[in-house]
Amino acid sequence: MYLFINFITHSSDQIQLILFVCTLFLCWNIENIAALSLDYKKWKHAFLNARFILTNSPIQLLMGIAFVSTMQLTAKHHFGLAYYFPTFHSQFLLFVVTFLLLDLGEYFYHVIMHKVKRLWMFHLVHHTDKVVDVSTTLREHPGENIIRLSFTLLWVFLSGAVFWALVLRQIIQVFTTLFAHMNYRLPNKMDSILGALFITPNLHQVHHHYQQPYTDSNYGDVLSIWDRLFGTFKKLPPENVVFGVDTHMENEDNSNFRSLFKLPFGKYRKNLKKN
Ligand SMILES: [Zn+2]
Ligand SMILES: [Zn+2]
Repeated sequence: MYLFINFITHSSDQIQLILFVCTLFLCWNIENIAALSLDYKKWKHAFLNARFILTNSPIQLLMGIAFVSTMQLTAKHHFGLAYYFPTFHSQFLLFVVTFLLLDLGEYFYHVIMHKVKRLWMFHLVHHTDKVVDVSTTLREHPGENIIRLSFTLLWVFLSGAVFWALVLRQIIQVFTTLFAHMNYRLPNKMDSILGALFITPNLHQVHHHYQQPYTDSNYGDVLSIWDRLFGTFKKLPPENVVFGVDTHMENEDNSNFRSLFKLPFGKYRKNLKKN
């Protein structure tokens, strides 16, 4: 365990980058073989979403420094919720507690982004994608990137997460987030088994449905248990899922980088609340 923790601690950036590229490559090719929708220009769509890498990379670099400093501080003073659980002697249990706390934090973050109007305007950029595929993972407004990482930073501070446990969770998160956005649907039986615990592509596709109340469901990041616990879990027959948001279905609202960049600063549009 010590060697494993040491490896994760000292190679965190490389592991995450390699895993991200490999998973992206794998999901991209599964989509090429068994995509749900083929009726779109995949490379053009990916190029638009990938432009957010350019705006978000400097933010992630700066926030990375803040994360390291925060965790050094909490570790030094044994500050945070994780220290109240009797898990100090088991690294595995410490990881499980940290993982659950961080995943719960991500759930609440996602709910807040949907419920607070101005925050929704930032998160809306992700939701406006009319084809959800693996590149949709990259479609995050830099404003949301700052808000999300600041929220995670606050949660890391309050939870007292140790560095290696946070990195290990991020490694799992990279894989599950890309997987959940894949332009692919799991067979029903496999979805029922995996979906009992995890957010599957089928469940996240319901979250990307263009009308309420489905947009406000299945908020989970890695685990689906929080949605079941807090009553936000929803299923929708796959053939009924339509991607996008009913307020922004026109191409000029969702297929142009400049419009997407300006979107959070524009006028709030109320959902049509059908369905
Ligand atoms: Zn959302
Ligand atoms: Zn999504």
